[in-house]
Amino acid sequence: MRLPAVEDLIARFGRSATVDAVRDVLERARAHRATAPEQAAASENELTQQVTSFVEQRATPSLRRMFNLTGTVLHTNLGRALLPASAIAHVNMAMTEACNLEYEIDSGGRGERDSLVESLLRDLTGAEAVTVVNNNAAAVLLVLAALAPRREVIVSRGELVEIGGAFRIPDVMRSANTRLVEIGTTNRTHASDYEEAIGPRSAALMKVHASNYTISGFVAEVSGSEVAQIAHRHNLPYLVDLGAGSLIDLSAYGLPKEPVVRDVLAAGADVVTFSGDKLLGGPQAGLIVGRKDLIAKIKRHPLKRALRVSKLTLAALEASLLTYRHPERLTQELPTLRLLTRPLEQMQGLADRLRAPLASALGPDWRVDIAAVKSQVGSGSMPVETLPSVALSIIPNKARAGSALNALAKRLRSLPIPVVGRVVDNKLQLDLRCLEDETAFAAQLPRLQA
Ligand SMILES: *Cc1c(COP(=O)(O)O)cnc(C)c1O
Repeated sequence: MRLPAVEDLIARFGRSATVDAVRDVLERARAHRATAPEQAAASENELTQQVTSFVEQRATPSLRRMFNLTGTVLHTNLGRALLPASAIAHVNMAMTEACNLEYEIDSGGRGERDSLVESLLRDLTGAEAVTVVNNNAAAVLLVLAALAPRREVIVSRGELVEIGGAFRIPDVMRSANTRLVEIGTTNRTHASDYEEAIGPRSAALMKVHASNYTISGFVAEVSGSEVAQIAHRHNLPYLVDLGAGSLIDLSAYGLPKEPVVRDVLAAGADVVTFSGDKLLGGPQAGLIVGRKDLIAKIKRHPLKRALRVSKLTLAALEASLLTYRHPERLTQELPTLRLLTRPLEQMQGLADRLRAPLASALGPDWRVDIAAVKSQVGSGSMPVETLPSVALSIIPNKARAGSALNALAKRLRSLPIPVVGRVVDNKLQLDLRCLEDETAFAAQLPRLQA
């Protein structure tokens, strides 16, 4: 503890963290001596180096910044949507100051947290009422638990989606204590299938947006407005799990068309659920919008209290939704839309500037080409459509085993800001669509040489 190097560590990381690390290192050294007494004992210098790396490692957060060069814009494993600057500022306020999370400033009485985003969401979707939970999986669970306990919900066999991460519609139904009634076949479901399945135990008709797959060929699907009409003729609510659920028509921005929440409600849906951090471009959240009486019932269910969101989520969501009030600026202010609509010239410019520095950092074993590639939206939105993009494509100069490419991928992930690309056809591709901080990326390239 009195070695100068260790005293430095105490000054930087505190006494207790340093003592813990010294104990651990000495324990390991003793255990090593006991098993291999013939080997020389570790030097003082080696021991202090081990202590330093222990303390530094333990003081580093596990959640780290990364470069997402996978070409998937909304990458679930890399945190999905990036938030607009206004959302960061709003979260900052809500974290550092007291705020009216559940307080009505006018009356001085108790308020409701959902009301912070209610009028915005009503304007943006045309819904009568809204409530917000932790994610869309929670939204679907809560809607079913509140509106169809111990009763039947009718869903087409073509829509029994698995989202990944154990979200499967039949399992969610079971967890919500709802009985799933499957109708039609995988490829074809008709209006008569819905009609015939309706009985005294029916609670709702439901459509689930097949967000991460398509069924093509000999197919038939009943449109939302038709299912709504059937449901309403029988006095049943029509529920829609929209998945990504866009607030605006993305085709106006040259992107593939994805269902718009407002249109789905206008076509007769009584309750629609969708994610906050997919196409909306906000924080992780599950948005439930629809008929006032049904939303009121959903809010009264005890699960709502268990699944409610924190002030951080509400602050981020409110500011993200506010960006939609200014559609002309949306492609600049909302990072998801900015990245999805990024002009090809920008990726081309990045590729032209970064190709040579990357090649020289990688050394003679690798060649770096500029390649036309296809980005994906990700998070189960638009599974088939792709967006033209530009990548730096790293190719081994000699025929080398696939393990060399994996080792290279690992080297890129070992950088201070880990870089993740995509291995395809014995190449490592770095799709530049989501690279916005060129300076930070270029600055760490020389470390690849080490
Ligand atoms: C993504 C998705 C979900 C789950 O949403 P999370 O916000 O990730 O919980 C549920 N249903 C559909 C159709 C989806 O696409």
